[in-house]
Amino acid sequence: MDDYDLLVIGSANADLVIGVERRPGAGETVLGSDLAVHPGGKGANQAVAAARLGARTALLARVGDDAHGRLLLDAQRAAGVDTVGVLVGGAPTGVALITVDPSGDNSIVVSPGANGRLTPEDVRAAGSLFQASRVVSAQLEIPLETVVEAVRSLAPGSRFVLNPSPPRPLPPEVLAACDPLIVNEHEARVLLGEALVGDDPADWARILLARGPRAVVVTLGAKGALVASAQGVARVRSVPVDVVDTTGAGDAFTAALAWRLGRGDALTEAAAYAARVGAAAVTRAGAQESYPTPHEVDAL
Ligand code: ATP
Repeated sequence: MDDYDLLVIGSANADLVIGVERRPGAGETVLGSDLAVHPGGKGANQAVAAARLGARTALLARVGDDAHGRLLLDAQRAAGVDTVGVLVGGAPTGVALITVDPSGDNSIVVSPGANGRLTPEDVRAAGSLFQASRVVSAQLEIPLETVVEAVRSLAPGSRFVLNPSPPRPLPPEVLAACDPLIVNEHEARVLLGEALVGDDPADWARILLARGPRAVVVTLGAKGALVASAQGVARVRSVPVDVVDTTGAGDAFTAALAWRLGRGDALTEAAAYAARVGAAAVTRAGAQESYPTPHEVDAL
């Protein structure tokens, strides 16, 4: 079970970004900046973040047989991720079409493409990756049944970490496997739905914990995070930094947490390290481009 510190199963997208003076309304055409193309998607982001920290990382994902797929594969390999589990073909690579106005507000259209074709059968065919991995991390930009199959494929003694983004109801089998379930404020609110009480994230964490996960982490942006387990709820302080771009901070946090838990850190210790990684990630533009090396984390 020791070939990989972390196996990430999830999405890989090309983010196509155009700056605009004003986002277009229905039927309207506006002119924008030159197109910028960035590797993204929550799975691909997590894998790059972990590898940059020094984790032996593999990615299980699907991209199209096209230029965006090659861009994503190149970015993974450049970061040191093992791409043996990245399947190619079946649909175009997932794309996020993003327009950003000068205030930083954006509009995003996502075409899941190949991400939607990552199947439970693909997970079963990647059984050896699961057997070789200490921690498996997932998000929800791939079909839920594929995530369910990932839970069923875990090697004995390996750990499962889930960031349910975009949020949707989770089967008890998946909830029970999460150690931890990692949510931001928006994801917590959606998952809690009618069970949402008040504005105290510690209460949200307790209610989510009662649904079956072994632990819950609520990330709170510049306010740090909360960790909840059978030992109670603890606060993890954030590191004050000058914010440039928060894109992908949550993915960096999740990857760092998953890796450190696999190395044997206690949950609060791992979350404190992850908070430093998340803080480092917001000091630079972009997602994958912003992820720190261990040296940069230590320098914070
Ligand atoms: P995103 O969707 O932008 O990737 P998220 O909403 O999933 O992020 P956040 O809670 O914003 O996740 O960020 C994850 C972690 O990164 C936080 O718990 C915190 O530790 C760190 N972080 C994020 N923003 C800041 C900030 N402005 N200053 C310091 N640390 C931050």
